[in-house]
Parts: sequence; structure tokens; C-alpha cells
Amino acid sequence: MTSRTALHDLGVAQLATELRERRVSAVEAAQHFLARARQHQNLGAFVALNEDATLAQARSADEHLAKGSGGALEGVPLAHKDIFVTRDFPTTAGSRMLAGYQSPFDATVVTRLAAAGAVTLGKLNCDEFAMGSANENSAVAPIGFDAPAPVRNPWAADRIPGGSSGGSAVAVAARLAPAVTGTDTGGSIRQPASFCGITGIKPTYGRASRYGMVAFASSLDQAGPMARSAEDCALLLSAMCGPDPDRDSTSLDLPCEDFSRSLNDSIDGLRIGIPAEFFGEGLAPGVRAAVDGALKEYEKLGAKLVPISLPRTELSIPVYYIIAPAEASSNLSRFDGVKFGHRAKDYGDLLDMYKKTRAEGFGDEVKRRIMIGAYVLSHGYYDAYYLQAQKIRRMIADDFQNAFKDCDLIAGPVAPTVAWKLGEHGSDPLADYLADIFTLPASLAGLPGMSVPAGFGEGGMPVGLQLIGNYFQEARLLNAAHRLQQATDFHLRSPL
Ligand code: GLN
Repeated sequence: MTSRTALHDLGVAQLATELRERRVSAVEAAQHFLARARQHQNLGAFVALNEDATLAQARSADEHLAKGSGGALEGVPLAHKDIFVTRDFPTTAGSRMLAGYQSPFDATVVTRLAAAGAVTLGKLNCDEFAMGSANENSAVAPIGFDAPAPVRNPWAADRIPGGSSGGSAVAVAARLAPAVTGTDTGGSIRQPASFCGITGIKPTYGRASRYGMVAFASSLDQAGPMARSAEDCALLLSAMCGPDPDRDSTSLDLPCEDFSRSLNDSIDGLRIGIPAEFFGEGLAPGVRAAVDGALKEYEKLGAKLVPISLPRTELSIPVYYIIAPAEASSNLSRFDGVKFGHRAKDYGDLLDMYKKTRAEGFGDEVKRRIMIGAYVLSHGYYDAYYLQAQKIRRMIADDFQNAFKDCDLIAGPVAPTVAWKLGEHGSDPLADYLADIFTLPASLAGLPGMSVPAGFGEGGMPVGLQLIGNYFQEARLLNAAHRLQQATDFHLRSPL
């Protein structure tokens, strides 16, 4: 590295080396990215900064680095989706309900990244309670704004970044942070990663602790890293995962892995399953061309493309939009004006306080899901909707196991289109829901999935290739993604 101004062009692995070899200090790196976050605050990515806390963490990283005792991420600045609770920064989950909320503890994922030496730059915008596909449901004002403002895609400021981890994807794409955290319930890491031209991985359900992640749909919510490259994602994921039995009963009893170990393995002979249902009508031609291009690269690298079928792909939309709201309606009952956050100012009796608090605190999409969720769980409808959805969820998972008899990985588009224009879906939530069609199946099955930059489509917007692995196959996914990134340069392109 020759010039300090190029600090933001370094990925996690390179920056960690610069820090370890003391060519740059953690304080300098933190200051550089904080300045950049302010400089590009018009993108709406950050919702909270606390420079004193960031610099204190950076100074402590510098002390470790001076002694040669740092962790794998020592001094590397990261930012967190504002769905992870943090002691040093407010946590809103994109909601008025949590305005002014300060957590007394850090989420496990935050604690683990900090233990590896990472320095927290701040918190990133997201859809309210992670419900959304465009980041247009946030009720929180980004840094530099005094009212909620759109999160803008750095590749085209009039387009959405994707959601719900929209601020996270923008921060990486615009080089406001070398890497960030996100969460994926039905696609919220993969889809914004695809729309912003970055790399993101959602691990197998249960790999990362959900402790301290504001809950949306507990049987689906999973944390993961978003960065420029698979190599950087592997570094973060290795720090984030591992059992947390005392705090998250669904965290898997599997030791933390070094997900970087097989990045360079050959993929000669790898069987990549191509689901027919992911390439049907409705797939934008530019997306199809980019995905086909990436698949050709894989063939050149020695992989074999195998036709497969995931016959219930279409059903994943109604199934997800029954199960996720059902779980959300239960999880969000805790926001009652007593335990957390907002409470209405004027109210009569207790019931009136609940009603006014929730009417004021929640946005439209959240209310819609609470109502759908309460309905599908109610006596008389439970069997017809919720139970039926659970049965089909199992069949969707079985379809994947069938497919994995013939292939090692599955590949296809992340979303049917590129990022759409801000406001384009207007007040039609179904338009957003339908765009989740290719990410929902892996979420419902609990499988690991990735988005890897594969080129550019309509309007010159980025397109991601989705890779889906069988349970616990994160290392194999990262290996396949890394090999593609060694043969292509889409992940290195920058919009700014
Ligand atoms: N778009 C999906 C939804 O609105 C998924 C969101 C997510 O993964 N958090 O629920």
C-alpha cells in the first residue's frame, strides 16, 4: 500500500495484514472509514456512529498489535446491521418502537467479532425488524438526516439497495467499511449483496448464535457476513460462528470452523445442480445472461453442470409469508410499551396504552405481518394455513435432499431482476414478496446460501449468482465462490 487514501480499497484480508505489519494503525483505519461514512452519508447507510467508542476500541487494538498479540481481525473496522444489539451504540431495528433504546449487552456475534479484534464503526440501516426486500421500510433517520430517508444503491442513486440488510450492502459496495454483518431470514443477506455487487453468505441455520439479534422469525433468522470477496467472508464467518448453548438453544453444537481452509481447493469435477425452476419465465434477460456467464466460468474451471428440479420453488412464497409472519406476531408481542422502547404519551387504561403504543411504534409492513401472523395462528385457521405451511416447508427441505443426491452445490440467480427503482413497487407489498422467490427455498430448508458477484444486467446494475450448499457445507460454498473470484473481477469493481 502506498497512499493512505487507498485504505478503503483494501479488503479485510489485506487490511488485516497492513495492520499486523504496522504499516497502518487501527486508529488511522478507523478514522479513515469514519470520515468516509460522513462523506457519503447521502447514501443513508449508517444510522448510528459513536466516534469515541470506535476510537477507544481502535486504541485497544493498536495495543494488541504492538504486542503482536492480536486476533485474526485485529484493528479491522466493521459495521453491524442495526438488528444486532450493541452496548456502545443505540439499537433501533429500523423501528420507531426502539427509538432511543440502548442495550445493556452486545449480541454474541458482535462479541465474537470484537474478540477477534474487530473495531465497530457504527450501525447500519435496515428494514423495520428486518421485514422487507428493498430497505424502504426503515422508520429511522440515517446519519446526517433528521427524518427517515431512502437508502440508495451506490451503483445508481435512484435505485433501492435491496433489503432488509440494505445499509450493510451499501456500506461494503461504497467502501464505507471493509466488511459488515447482516441477517438473512428469507434472503436479506443474499439479495442486497446481489443488488449491490458484493459477496454475502448466510450459514446453515444454527451456525451463528441469534442471541442479541432482534427477533423477526426465529426458525429462519440467521446472521452472516457481507464483504467484497469470499475470502473476506470466510475470515468473518470463522469468527462469528460456534455454539452458544447458554444463550441460544437453537445454536448448533458444532465447533467453530476455519472456513478459509479450503478456499483454494480445486473444483475440478464439482457437480453444480441447476434447478429448472430458477430459470423460467420472469427471469430478466440481463440477469440470466450474467448467471449463464458465471456458470460457463465454472465449466472452464472443471465443474459439471447437472440439471436438477426443486419442484416446490413457487410454493416457498406462500409458505414463507405464512410462517414468518406467524413467528413475527409472537416475537413482536414483547413490544408492549412496558418492557422496551416506545410508550404512547396519552392513554386511558392498560389496554389503551398497549394499543396506542403499538399503533404509533410499528410501521405499516410490520402491522400487516402481525395481523397475518395472528390470523394464521388463530383457532380455526391454524390447521388450514400454519400447519399446512409447515408440512410444505418440510417437503421443500426434502426436495433439496433429493437434488443433493445428484449434485454437490446448487447454483442459480439470487433474484429475478436487478435492483428496482426507489418507490417502483409503490404500496404493493406483493411485488416485494414475489421478488424473494429464489432466496426463500434455502431459508425454509435452513441451508447455507451465498451471493457472488456475477456481472451486470439491466441498467448496468450488479447481478449475483446464488450458490446453495447442503447443511454445514459453508467451506465448500466459499471455496467455489473464491475460485470464481480468482477467474473474474466483478467483486473488485467499485461504483464510487
Ligand atoms: N424479504 C423477506 C421479508 O420481507 C426476507 C427478509 C429477511 O431476510 N430479513 O421477509
